[in-house]
Amino acid sequence: MNLTQVKQHDSTQWKAVATDARSHIETRLLIDGKFVDAIKGGRFVTSNPANGETLAEMSAGGVEDIDRAVAAARKAFYSGVWSRLAPRDRMDVLYRFADLVDENAEQLAVLETLDMGKPIADVINLDLPAVVATIRFMAECIDKIEGSVTNTDSSSMHMILREPLGVVGAISPWNYPLLMATWKIAPALAAGNTVVLKPAEQAPMSCLRLGELFLQAGGPPGVLNVVNGMGEIAGRALALHNDVAKLTFTGSTEVGKLILQYSGQSNMKRVALECGGKSPQIFMADLPDLDKAVAAAYNGIFANMGEVCSAGSRLLVERPIYNEFIERFIAEGEHAYKPGEPLDPATNMGPLVDRESQQRVLGMIETGKKEGATLHFGGTKPKGLDEGAYVNPTLFGDVNNSMTIARQEIFGPVASVIPFDGAEEAIHIANDTIYGLASGIWTRDINKAFALIKNIEAGVVWVNSYEDGDMTQPFGGYKQSGQARDKCMESVKSYTQCKSAWIRLAAE
Ligand code: NAD
Repeated sequence: MNLTQVKQHDSTQWKAVATDARSHIETRLLIDGKFVDAIKGGRFVTSNPANGETLAEMSAGGVEDIDRAVAAARKAFYSGVWSRLAPRDRMDVLYRFADLVDENAEQLAVLETLDMGKPIADVINLDLPAVVATIRFMAECIDKIEGSVTNTDSSSMHMILREPLGVVGAISPWNYPLLMATWKIAPALAAGNTVVLKPAEQAPMSCLRLGELFLQAGGPPGVLNVVNGMGEIAGRALALHNDVAKLTFTGSTEVGKLILQYSGQSNMKRVALECGGKSPQIFMADLPDLDKAVAAAYNGIFANMGEVCSAGSRLLVERPIYNEFIERFIAEGEHAYKPGEPLDPATNMGPLVDRESQQRVLGMIETGKKEGATLHFGGTKPKGLDEGAYVNPTLFGDVNNSMTIARQEIFGPVASVIPFDGAEEAIHIANDTIYGLASGIWTRDINKAFALIKNIEAGVVWVNSYEDGDMTQPFGGYKQSGQARDKCMESVKSYTQCKSAWIRLAAE
């Protein structure tokens, strides 16, 4: 069933779809166009964070499985079956791929929700439409990738050609399993590369189906391989592989640093990193609409359970509006998100991805209390949902930027409000972090907005909005949030390399 049709499903229908999907979960690795077991037979369990039930025992790829996936991708690359396919033909495959994602929305959505607890409403209204849009956009870019002819003296002709890199290794996180994987594989494929994808072990199911749909769309075997497994084994082997030309990674800053090391220890492969964040939203006293601003504040941190790299986790509020901001946030934000069964389309907050995350987030909340922040609401597990890894939406006020909750990425539904005086102090606090992914500015003063835009160290700045954008927007960080840019034409180009061809012309 396609995206439009599944929007009509109620909770009973989704539960029936989930029961059906659970009876035939694909657990193997997708290598060279075929589903295969891990060579050494390794397996790991994936479970439903909403109730702790085991969903499947997935094949755990080892070093030898990464080797054969990379070999398949390399063979496919050098055969030219994809890299030398006429741009229009490659576009056609990707357009069919996008259509198939849409047509199979029901199954993809339910796998995503079962595996990582994301509300089904979010998957069908946000994640899957974004996956489809990403593949279509990247398909459109294919025949827009251009080289150039430079201005030389008349005895020479100089062309700059753009060529694919070869085998791209992609390592993705669990918070948007399909979307984050697609932000990697779609531009890499569009540019003519072949890919080995290693999804996160917390949410391994949906990307296998994605790989299968690529084959159904006419993608040649070996062009997109999906190898599940543990990060420290399969991920590490991919990042260390000498036949991988580029490793594109989305995940934590800690692992991002390892990926850089692996590159240096192996073949100096290119590395693209999209890592963590501790993004500030700055609310100036002259902001145009407090209702909209407060809604953006709680949506920016409670959506997707706060498991968002660009979550607006530090809310910087200018002192003259501080009390009113907190009051409104409590009045409107405390009940805006209600933890519940993620398969119910009325639910807007699911569990965290696993028990470990739940314990970590609750631990951070305890630290926030101990360090003197004011807990306005939340901070607990919701009643009646003990089977799942749930945490209630939480608001801390009177936060100081030196507190642990203001410095570390919590990756949960925990908002921290920090008061400040004047734009200069706002800039100082906003930049006083190792991260630099996203930021928001709320003001009606265009000059103030420009001053803040120029001075904030972040890859994305939203003004009087948050988490807005479309496929033309480069998405990525400054500082330890990484150096890659996903989405946008720049992303496709980053999966190409330039070749200079200097031709000496025969004398006339
Ligand atoms: P993570 O770093 O633990 O894992 C990410 C991926 O890396 C997984 O596939 C994992 O298996 C793999 N991995 C783990 N150890 C590895 C190793 N030693 N070698 C190779 N691969 C290894 O991150 P996570 O918990 O899955 O995701 C959450 C993090 O991702 C957060 O920090 C979040 O901010 C970040 N994130 C960033 C963006 C962005 O665009 N900047 C988007 C989404 C998530």
